[in-house]
Amino acid sequence: MDFRNTKYGRFMNTRVPPSKRYQPTEYEHAANCATHGLWIIPSILGSTLLYFLSDDHWKATTAWMYGAGLSSLFIMSTMFHTISWKKGHLRMVEQGFHMCDRMVIYFFIAASYAPWLNLRELGPWASQMRWVVWIMACVGATYVFFFHERYKIVELLCYTTMGVLPALVLLSMADRNGVLELSVGGFFYCLGIVFFKSDGLVPFAHAIWHIFVAVGAGIHYYTIWKYLYSTESSQS
Ligand SMILES: [Zn+2]
Repeated sequence: MDFRNTKYGRFMNTRVPPSKRYQPTEYEHAANCATHGLWIIPSILGSTLLYFLSDDHWKATTAWMYGAGLSSLFIMSTMFHTISWKKGHLRMVEQGFHMCDRMVIYFFIAASYAPWLNLRELGPWASQMRWVVWIMACVGATYVFFFHERYKIVELLCYTTMGVLPALVLLSMADRNGVLELSVGGFFYCLGIVFFKSDGLVPFAHAIWHIFVAVGAGIHYYTIWKYLYSTESSQS
């Protein structure tokens, strides 16, 4: 379907060659900021709740790790999209924020796995993933620093590997409660990638991608709260 010839066409610009950056319309810029900005306060409140529900030191530390990753994803993304919208002419500044936005994603993925890797019983091999995810995040961030936007397909591959590899390890958990919800969340992230790649083809494609990320993160938060932090979880 070609949206350009419909009444929605005015909400988006034309597609650009892979070497160039897509220029969102004013509407799209606003939607990009709003769709992640809206989640900053809830993610901070949600993480604080997990912290207060913690009944031991390790759980509290994990709540911090997870909360920091979750909130910084939405904060950094909103900052980048705001700069890109209002200060897009400052190319170096925008570029810097874009790099930070991309780096934070790796730490967000590591942080999303941290509660499961830290708080669930894992086999001797699988438990190594507790620190391996953070090494992976650092390697990913370093890659962004040196090769930002140079090989887009490699970037997408890195994110997908980082997103999927620890999940395979989680399958070795003795207690598999929550795995189903985790995969539903993962499914939303994967579906979102379709829109991530649709700038200039679908109006508000990037904002729709943001919504998929927020839904995926929301499902994962709920699963973490329910199975690892809520009072029910500690009774089981
Ligand atoms: Zn974005």
